[in-house]
Amino acid sequence: MTNAIIKVDHLKKNFGKNEVLKDISAEVDQGQVICIIGPSGSGKSTFLRCLNVLERPMSGKIIFDGTDLASLKDGQELDELREKMGMVFQNFNLFPNMNVIENIKLAPMKVKGESEAEAEKEALSLLAKVGLKDRAQQYPTSLSGGQQQRVAIARALAMHPEVMLFDEPTSALDPEMVGEVLTTMKDLANSGMTMVVVTHEMGFAREVADEIWFMADGYLQEKNKPEEFFAHPTSKRAQDFLAKVL
Ligand code: ADP
Ligand code: MG
Repeated sequence: MTNAIIKVDHLKKNFGKNEVLKDISAEVDQGQVICIIGPSGSGKSTFLRCLNVLERPMSGKIIFDGTDLASLKDGQELDELREKMGMVFQNFNLFPNMNVIENIKLAPMKVKGESEAEAEKEALSLLAKVGLKDRAQQYPTSLSGGQQQRVAIARALAMHPEVMLFDEPTSALDPEMVGEVLTTMKDLANSGMTMVVVTHEMGFAREVADEIWFMADGYLQEKNKPEEFFAHPTSKRAQDFLAKVL
């Protein structure tokens, strides 16, 4: 018996002639933190987008919570899946016309049917968790990038996801704001959240990940514990990559 919450089996995805994911198999266990690293263009975002069905694979299977994602129809079935998978992007994607707390309350009220009072209480508690309780009434443009990204994380958490997917959440930030977002993510990892994180932050990956997946040329070239991966990368591809980034 495995404890896998996500099971990926021989996943393939191409865009026309461009074979981006050639054969990916992997499992994510409940409570695990996976960091996916690899060169730009290697298919990391495409992989995450397949996980929450923003892309449909050409072949192979993704099983989430025992459900084959290929069986889910566009519309309500996919919406329900996406409620269980919070996604945080590089560019925050907050609604600019709503203040912070409205951003967080919207989906729980609209999608989950929570009352305003309930959603408000939850939103404030999440804002406290990400250190932004005093910013509830501000608009996204008045916040720094790091603050906006922490709001985006709180907004995703408001849906009580089973898994959080992060696609380079700190890549668009000024360097002095990277730390506060990584700290928020680390707290989340320590709280037991299952997380799949695409990142170029090697320090974070080394410290927080249970497993590193190194992706290049359409394959997961290595899956290993961080201390093993960083000390003894086995593939030439990973050795070259680490030589450049470390
Ligand atoms: P990474 O996130 O590792 O940088 P991506 O998954 O964004 O890589 O992209 C992998 C490859 O797939 C790239 O060659 C990119 O141009 C291509 N690609 C990604 N999305 C699309 C798309 N919607 N249509 C066509 N090609 C795409
Ligand atoms: Mg990407």
